[in-house]
Amino acid sequence: MKVVCKACQYTSDIHKETIEKELNRLKASKTSMADDAAYEARLKICSDCKHLDVSGTCMMCGCYVMLRTALKDNKCPKKYW
Ligand code: SF4
Repeated sequence: MKVVCKACQYTSDIHKETIEKELNRLKASKTSMADDAAYEARLKICSDCKHLDVSGTCMMCGCYVMLRTALKDNKCPKKYW
């Protein structure tokens, strides 16, 4: 399934089962990743957010939050983090 974030235009061929793989690929690339503390803090905010759907997708931008929160320079579209 092709996933394109409507906010940041991040594009990837991912589905739920391969999010971990995608995270590992990003970490191995030159992509700037959020540090572990920031990643966990962002995910906590997303997990309590009314805009998160059951698939782990942010309904404000269309990103899987496990990926959106992992990229250092990404921002929450609602400025919650
Ligand atoms: S990215 Fe922001 S708006 Fe989207 S689910 Fe996370 S906290 Fe909510």
